[in-house]
Amino acid sequence: MPINESRIRDLAGFKGEDAPVTSLYLDVDGRTRIRARDVELALERIVRPVRERHHQEGQTSVCADVDRMEAYVRGGIDRSHVRGLALFSCSAHDFWEVVELAVPVPDRLVVNHTPYVRELEALVARHERFAVLLVDRQRARLFLFLQGELLDKQEQIDLLPRHDDDGGQLGKDQVAVHTAAAAHRHLRHAAAAAFAFHQEQGFDHLVLCGPDDVTAEVERDLHAYLRERLAARVHLPVQASDDEIRQAVEDVEAGVERARDVVIVARLRQAVGVGAGGAAGLQAVLEALLARRVDTLIVSEGYEAPGWRCPACAWVGTLGRQCPLCAAGMEAVDDVVEEAVEEALAQACRVAVCRDNADLDVMGRIGALLRY
Ligand SMILES: [Zn+2]
Repeated sequence: MPINESRIRDLAGFKGEDAPVTSLYLDVDGRTRIRARDVELALERIVRPVRERHHQEGQTSVCADVDRMEAYVRGGIDRSHVRGLALFSCSAHDFWEVVELAVPVPDRLVVNHTPYVRELEALVARHERFAVLLVDRQRARLFLFLQGELLDKQEQIDLLPRHDDDGGQLGKDQVAVHTAAAAHRHLRHAAAAAFAFHQEQGFDHLVLCGPDDVTAEVERDLHAYLRERLAARVHLPVQASDDEIRQAVEDVEAGVERARDVVIVARLRQAVGVGAGGAAGLQAVLEALLARRVDTLIVSEGYEAPGWRCPACAWVGTLGRQCPLCAAGMEAVDDVVEEAVEEALAQACRVAVCRDNADLDVMGRIGALLRY
């Protein structure tokens, strides 16, 4: 099952009171990490420093966490469907959660007082529901995908009339007219089935697959509401395999995400340019968050930066060590970007994680659209 907000909230609600929580994200994508050994080596690389540090500090719970995680990964993962893995453990509380994902996640190991759910949040924010309508002149198939997982499928067949046993009563032209009328009816059925599918399941985007002349005709028959949600027309045969369809959706989705990133970053650039409604760069964004002015936080995937956090008043900034607000001594934090994302989520801001967007990188890899 794809990860959803309620599962994330449940995870985030766990507090390791007697010992910290270890959170592991691992890319187990068989397309890039071909051998099981490649996955194990990647895991070893991120686990080693954590194990050494916590062993020295006598954190036996954390050491037990990473042992259990390694044993889990070595035990074998069904990588035909799983491309990303998130494991959460707090051995002192016998807390253990496994989240299998159909999309890869960047490798990461975090030890903190709560489960580190930022990657899961980003996943939910980034992925929308995609429906696929595969159609030719007799068949229609509907698929629903979320986060790379197939959630539902339906099939519908309208057989074309057979004219080989009509005793020759119909002329060739009449047969052609009958067949064309039946095909038109079928395509209208297909368009109606797509709308019914939307009423039942709900989706954000529709992908039409089939021969060009067929998809063009179906597009005209689509409910206006679905036409607005049409993300792409793809040349794929109606009998394509589930994996071929999944791949087609992934390609369309990547394009939709890029386009969405471009729009939001353009809004940010414009707001920053006119000096109203936008903040760019880590310090400016942190200040806007502390002032609770952020509507949408926009951050470049993989961006991390060290900074400072005040234990007394929760001020977060890039410069230490004295808190500018309450003058208390601040603590160094490995990654204040994570603090910013968590703060944004806690304030119910939208969070957009952009991939390879050069305009965002130029603005400091982080920005915010402001409420006022
Ligand atoms: Zn302070």
